[in-house]
Amino acid sequence: MRVYLDNSATTPVAPEVLDAMLPYFSEEIGNAQSVHSYGQRAKSAIEKARRHVAELINATPTEIVFTSGGTEADNLAVRGVAEAHREHGRHIITSKIEHPAILATCESLEREGFRVTYLPVSSNGRVTAADLRAAISNDTILVSVMHANNETGTIQPIEEISATVAEARANRAAHLHFHTDAVQSAGKITIDVKGLGIDLLSMSGHKIHGPKGVGALYVRKGTRLSKLLYGGHHERDRRAGTENVPGIVGFGTAAQLARVHLSERQASMRELRDHLERQIADAVQEVRINSDVEHRVPNISNLSFDGMDGESLLIALDLKGVAVSTGSACASGSLEPSHVLQAMGLTRERVRGSLRFSLSAFTTSEEIDYAVAALTETIIRLREMIPNDEPKTAKLALQ
Ligand code: PLP
Repeated sequence: MRVYLDNSATTPVAPEVLDAMLPYFSEEIGNAQSVHSYGQRAKSAIEKARRHVAELINATPTEIVFTSGGTEADNLAVRGVAEAHREHGRHIITSKIEHPAILATCESLEREGFRVTYLPVSSNGRVTAADLRAAISNDTILVSVMHANNETGTIQPIEEISATVAEARANRAAHLHFHTDAVQSAGKITIDVKGLGIDLLSMSGHKIHGPKGVGALYVRKGTRLSKLLYGGHHERDRRAGTENVPGIVGFGTAAQLARVHLSERQASMRELRDHLERQIADAVQEVRINSDVEHRVPNISNLSFDGMDGESLLIALDLKGVAVSTGSACASGSLEPSHVLQAMGLTRERVRGSLRFSLSAFTTSEEIDYAVAALTETIIRLREMIPNDEPKTAKLALQ
């Protein structure tokens, strides 16, 4: 049996998504900028997808800018605001647990004279509104705090962050913008950009059963943004380059399916994720959840196994056909310990012994049972090799 539990890295394309995309590789070959009917059909397919993506987050379609993925959306948000508003201030606030697409963009801006504050997180992986409030100054132009973390699934207090930004904007930082990276939360939990007062929000197609290489940035109407790419006037002059028509069509269909099936997908993933954690807790000793169990997306479980090495577990599981991760896909392959778990203040051992299991709407209970059996067998075998005479009770620490 092969079990894929690395859906935070990427998800399989849904059959409906593939069906919707296929004609745009063959019959519907138009460039959406062309005046003839081929071009017009491509354009209308893009606009339909734009409506579906907008609906997923309660935005207006004209506020959606299609990009090549979450990374480009993050770069466009951070650099776009920084360059367009540099005359008003050169201070940016983000968090220590952001995806590298945000962190590396901020670092590049620091080299260009911007000042960046990296907010700390609690042991549960959340920033606080108090820390944010204390960090905002008159020249702060951007707050970028992710919605859900890709390694732990922890959901940030977005309402409080948004309220803090609104209050600061009214009183002392008139040009302050709020961006959130929702690559791991869009399609997993309800998002209402209007209700939440978000100015910019990043999404990615391949995390919600859409294709790779397509994403979007929500840009609230009236937000001034510099561009990353120069060329044509595509995407209302926000993102130059011939549109990826099949990709955008696939992303639109994936967004539509995610919205329509949101609650049933949530329930199924949460039930299976909780089942996975309970079974692991019953079977192996000394395992802890690395997240805030009250504020977590339904599909991610980041666990630390005491005395274990996550990389060795990953390899042993892979040999049994089970795919998991030790952190974000971008960070794996390097031996750097997770910056997210480190920011949460976890001990080196606990960081080293961590594994991320991430489910999708298509994960089945048979797959979870197989993965648990494979993991249990591996841990028991590896622990037998470590001299240890202390009897330990099976316990899943709920922190
Ligand atoms: N932001 C977060 C939180 C992510 O998890 C990812 C992908 O892992 C990205 C951004 C980058 O998205 P993409 O792979 O579409 O470039």
